[in-house]
Amino acid sequence: MTRDEAQSRMADVMERFLTLACRRLPDDVYEKLQECRDAETSPLQRVVYESYFENLALAQKLDRPCCQDTGLPHFYIRCGADFPFIGAVEDALRDAVRRATVSSPLRPNAVDFFTERNTGDNTGERMPWLHWDILPEGSDLQICVYFAGAGCSLPGRAQVFKPADGYGAIVKFVFEAVSGLALNACPPLIVGVGLGHNIENAGVLSKMACLRPLGTSHPHPKGAKLERDLLAGLNGLGVGAQGLPGERIAMAVHVESSARHTATIAAAVNVSCYTHRRGFITFHADMSCEQSSYKGVTL
Ligand code: SF4
Repeated sequence: MTRDEAQSRMADVMERFLTLACRRLPDDVYEKLQECRDAETSPLQRVVYESYFENLALAQKLDRPCCQDTGLPHFYIRCGADFPFIGAVEDALRDAVRRATVSSPLRPNAVDFFTERNTGDNTGERMPWLHWDILPEGSDLQICVYFAGAGCSLPGRAQVFKPADGYGAIVKFVFEAVSGLALNACPPLIVGVGLGHNIENAGVLSKMACLRPLGTSHPHPKGAKLERDLLAGLNGLGVGAQGLPGERIAMAVHVESSARHTATIAAAVNVSCYTHRRGFITFHADMSCEQSSYKGVTL
């Protein structure tokens, strides 16, 4: 297969995958949302969840995105060093976004930063956003697609603390972020917490934390405990779906971490809403592919 053929194949598949991912929640998120619904007892929360599930069902029935804010597509990529078409990936993904903007359709959300002119096709300077991890071995290309809407992006924040502030500062920081603007981000939320050395480490890790499959936990026992404690604490706030009184403001809290400087503790928070539109797809060296987020769907 030539590079042009690989690029064209990837653009075709990714256009279809983007269309799927903006219409349907991944299975793990849908199941967790059902669990959150079942935990709510108030009539008001029942009404909100009924509208959530009706909306999700209509999106599939009417073949349209499940939220009007289709955000800006972000791609988190893990690429084996032996994947033969690395050079074709960026153009293929950009092409897929342009095409899906028309065919899905995705709302054109991208504006040039300084002229503020809408580019019309969800692409632009460094958009779609690509984050690359090159793996030393392997020939697979794993792509995580995420639609970053405005409601979920607005509450994001990062700060570097002094070690003297203690780990308690991280907890306070997370609670302030989630109980502030995140109430507008259509809870129940997935809360991603990045902990590391500086702002950029923590920011990227907080987004990676949001994207992790539900039901997974931080590999370190203390990290896993922090996730459980934050989730229990946040869900004790008395806030539920849509920021109204209820039992579950969060579906999950995920923490990702890196080593830090002895004199810094950096923390970042990212949230994602009930329409957590994120999907995983893997391309092999022969450009065959499979997705792992939606049971029974072949691309
Ligand atoms: S927070 Fe999520 S569900 Fe709410 S409007 Fe934004 S993208 Fe849509």
